[in-house]
Order: sequence, then C-alpha cells, then structure tokens
Amino acid sequence: MTGDVVEKRAPEQPALWDLHCLLCGSLTGQIVDSTFVHDPSCTLPVRRVGGQLRCCRCGGSLLREPGAERQTAAVTLEQARSYNHGKYRVR
Ligand SMILES: [Zn+2]
Repeated sequence: MTGDVVEKRAPEQPALWDLHCLLCGSLTGQIVDSTFVHDPSCTLPVRRVGGQLRCCRCGGSLLREPGAERQTAAVTLEQARSYNHGKYRVR
C-alpha cells in the first residue's frame, strides 16, 4: 500500500488530496486545504460511518492520495449534445 509512504512525507503535505473508494474505485471527493469537498458530479449524499467518510456509492473505505487538480462537475449529456450540435451546425 502506498498510504504509509504518503504519511511519512510530512511536513511536505500537499494541500490537495483525492479520496478514492477502496472497493469500487470511484473518486468520492477531495480534501482541499483540510476541507472535504464532495465530488461535484455526484448526486448521492456523503456517507459517514463513525465520523469516517465513506464512499457515497458503495459505502467502502476511502483511500487518501495526493491529488493533481480540483474536480469539476462532469459534462452532462445535455451539455454534450448542445456542444456537438453547435459544432456541426455551423457551416
Ligand atoms: Zn465505493
């Protein structure tokens, strides 16, 4: 596991962490400046078990990894469609 290695890297703590589910692998959210930020494209409520954050999809434990960039809301199907229409309509 890489978790231990990450913990020992202090005091160079990154300000951004990804929280991945150990069971289903989904990115549940991020820690940004010590604050949990839920995945903006996830519509499920955040789960907490005994004060611990859990995967909102399957309830699995979360693995903290240094994050690269902030999550943004996924493009919806509707947005994708309007984008494509705009792209191909213009001639
Ligand atoms: Zn999960």
